Amino acid sequence: MKVSIFSNNGPESKAVATALHEGLVAGGVTIDSLDPDIVVTVGGDGTLLSAVHHYNDRLDQVRFVGIHTGHLGFYTDWRDYEVDELVASLIEDNGQSISYPMLAIRVEYADGTHADEALALNESTIKKVSGTMVADVYIKDELFESFRGDGLCISTPTGSTAYNKSVGGAVLDPRFNAIQMAEIGSINNIVFRTLGSPLVIPADEWIRIEPTSSVDNVLMCDQLSIEGRPIKAITYRIAPQRIQFAEYRHTHFWQRVEASFIGRERS
Ligand code: NAP
Repeated sequence: MKVSIFSNNGPESKAVATALHEGLVAGGVTIDSLDPDIVVTVGGDGTLLSAVHHYNDRLDQVRFVGIHTGHLGFYTDWRDYEVDELVASLIEDNGQSISYPMLAIRVEYADGTHADEALALNESTIKKVSGTMVADVYIKDELFESFRGDGLCISTPTGSTAYNKSVGGAVLDPRFNAIQMAEIGSINNIVFRTLGSPLVIPADEWIRIEPTSSVDNVLMCDQLSIEGRPIKAITYRIAPQRIQFAEYRHTHFWQRVEASFIGRERS
């Protein structure tokens, strides 16, 4: 088995990455950052997002495992003091995995140049640099609404606890194969009207957003921005690729949500 260690630059993460590297080499595991079977990230959920984009052309061959150097994360099951247990699990690995949906993004440009395709694990947002974003929103090619406001956030189930939650979207169990659209600061009055609440669509439907103005839009896919050319339309659907995690332990999704956002005192 070949393992890549993908760490952020924090001193704590680097120390954990070094201990992990030493433990794996001592256990006879090959370290290979170019052609890995498993990518272990060291940092936070943001580090795992970066690793997924780094290996996005190999998602069908790679499983991910995350060590969090802070609190328990949404994509990170292991804590920094559990390196020895993780090394033992990697050595005993028998291919166990769990997979979750990703978001496919297709961007068409107003100048007719070739369209771009991208993937997101958490979400994609479209906003305007300044002023109100005006855009027509289509669901499965039918005009649904004309949006006016700060922007729109289209998220995956695992991304529903990230930006989506901050803008009032629902938290979705990641076993749903669905995508969610949440509004960011919509204008709703007697003249301009949108649904005004998040909506969730199934895997065989898609959302198309056509901004009225093709310039000064900011399109984000997780932490990456797509910029430089005037945007005609963006189409969002569930990606054929899924992210795969090496599931050596199982943390119930709602326990993770409780621990991250509620953290009630236990007696
Ligand atoms: P960042 O601004 O450094 O961190 C964003 C925060 O979101 C971090 O605390 C990160 O956790 C957390 N996070 C990432 N994925 C999550 C998930 N699926 N569920 C719950 N929390 C999650 O940016 P970054 O580290 O590069 O991450 C990019 C992400 O930031 C975007 O995909 C977006 O979801 C999020 N974001 C949120 C807002 C907002 O809530 N208003 C605004 C912009 C971007 P860790 O500390 O474990 O890394």
